[in-house]
Amino acid sequence: MRVAVQGTRGSFSEAAARQQWPGLETVPCREVGDVVTAVREGRADGGCLAIENSLVGSVTPTYDLMHEAFGDGTLHLSREILLPVHHSIMGVKGGSLAQVTQVLSHPVALGQCRVWLSRHLPNATLVNAWDTAGSAEIIAREGNPAQAAICARNASEAYGLQLFEERIEDDPTNQTRFLTFAREPSVETESGVPRKTSLIVWTDHRPGMLAAVLQAFAGRGVNLTSLQSRPERSAPWTYRFYIDVDGAVNEPRLAEALESIEALASRIVVLGTYSAWQGEGAVASQVVPQAPHHRPKPDLPLFDRRQNPEGTVVRVGTVEIGGARPVIIAGPCSVESEEMILQTAEGVAAAGADILRGGAFKPRTSPYDFQGLGVRGLKFLAEARERTGLPVVTEVLSWEEVPLLSRYADMLQIGARNMQNFALLRAAGRSGKPILLKRGAGATIEEWLHAAEYVLSYGNPNVVMCERGIRTFERATRHTLDLNAVALVRERTHLPVIADPSHAAGVRSIVPALTLASLAAGAQGVIVEVHPDPDRALSDGAQSLDLPAFARLAAEIRATSSEFRVPSSA
Ligand code: PEP
Ligand code: MN
Repeated sequence: MRVAVQGTRGSFSEAAARQQWPGLETVPCREVGDVVTAVREGRADGGCLAIENSLVGSVTPTYDLMHEAFGDGTLHLSREILLPVHHSIMGVKGGSLAQVTQVLSHPVALGQCRVWLSRHLPNATLVNAWDTAGSAEIIAREGNPAQAAICARNASEAYGLQLFEERIEDDPTNQTRFLTFAREPSVETESGVPRKTSLIVWTDHRPGMLAAVLQAFAGRGVNLTSLQSRPERSAPWTYRFYIDVDGAVNEPRLAEALESIEALASRIVVLGTYSAWQGEGAVASQVVPQAPHHRPKPDLPLFDRRQNPEGTVVRVGTVEIGGARPVIIAGPCSVESEEMILQTAEGVAAAGADILRGGAFKPRTSPYDFQGLGVRGLKFLAEARERTGLPVVTEVLSWEEVPLLSRYADMLQIGARNMQNFALLRAAGRSGKPILLKRGAGATIEEWLHAAEYVLSYGNPNVVMCERGIRTFERATRHTLDLNAVALVRERTHLPVIADPSHAAGVRSIVPALTLASLAAGAQGVIVEVHPDPDRALSDGAQSLDLPAFARLAAEIRATSSEFRVPSSA
């Protein structure tokens, strides 16, 4: 195998290429562009290009030739290779460091050994050469003991030089990432080695275009491993984005992402798919399960009780939902201020609540109503958790905000209005956070169970079902608490089932009665709205209990719930 490398025998590029082709015959090239040309013209069968250094960053000459080299599909990227970059200093045989007055190397290598050089050769002249190994070649040719070269250790054998000292680089973590390529497509495609794909995207100057491109990956659980921008030469102040992602171009979720980017971006060029580095220093990325529509349908739905007849226990912090004891979730409809959430949290904690609720992002019927404090609200909830030790559940309105809310919340609530927001259900599935899935006011039990199936099938087993009242002909209450559903869903699924009497009632006077009725029907917990001053609440005041009323209810739940056993089927 003849392999073109930038530099000459003994160079770092050659050492990288040997990782793939141990017996290679080196075709030395002066510039990275010459490496590509040598392979294209048949003077070499493959090539190796440095693409990134862990200290210096992108190797921009390589980036700038990627489009031309790989955009037309005639050359094929093969492997990613990580090479630790350790520098050695060497000179002519029989010489010594004390004789050295001139040090030759590539300017980047000289820069990476600055500390050692100033300590050991403070008076030496530093001379830029085109290549590290090339400077070793010069020293060997000239035979002058006043000259030394900084390069890879193996150059000393290649050129018969004396090694003065090894590992003289300032930072021992220094590594360079290389890409190998060949005229023939890689044979590793089917070997099961993790793959990576590189592409270039051009976007228009419009708000959010780059974000939309990145979301096409994020929304499908495709991991981005590198993003670089380079100026577009012929068009000042426009840019091309070089993107590396995990996965092969023909894997369904990456293929879907690329299809949508094709529609969004002004241009996209796929440079190729290649084997990701698996040796030392490899960055392990989280394995995301294949999307369910690309997997065989299970014989039994994942929510089906027969999947786990014992019943699933969902842990939120240290609290178990679905365990022996009913769980009490309490707190305001919305987080209104720091003082208000702290006061409520302390009050409900003292009364025996297990989990704190509170909306920071609110789904309001009218756009003119209070929409929640947003991120500030999340921070106040986290502070309330610090103070009281209660885990926090809060509502997430859209899939884009799942990562943000996951940073603060212990459990994510998917509200009634979003029960069939499938993008949100998918993101909740990928989040790894326990999910509180409310039933839509107009959703059938079957639809509700299948909404849970979305979350489960995207890899998240921690779903709690919450009945919160459905819309019926009855107008005297806000909704009608469907206790049929509580009892029936307990039969149908192994997932824990709880009830929300507050939203079902809409008026606080019947909340205690509905709470106890829910537990009697088999609910494994309740979520109750509590406000320190309900008549001044910014949302859902009419159905919120004040702190003393909640304390009485909590005491009643604790006093009576041991009598409520899961009703066995008739
Ligand atoms: C809430 O919990 O405040 C809420 C908006 O609930 P639901 O989605 O059940 O209406
Ligand atoms: Mn509410």
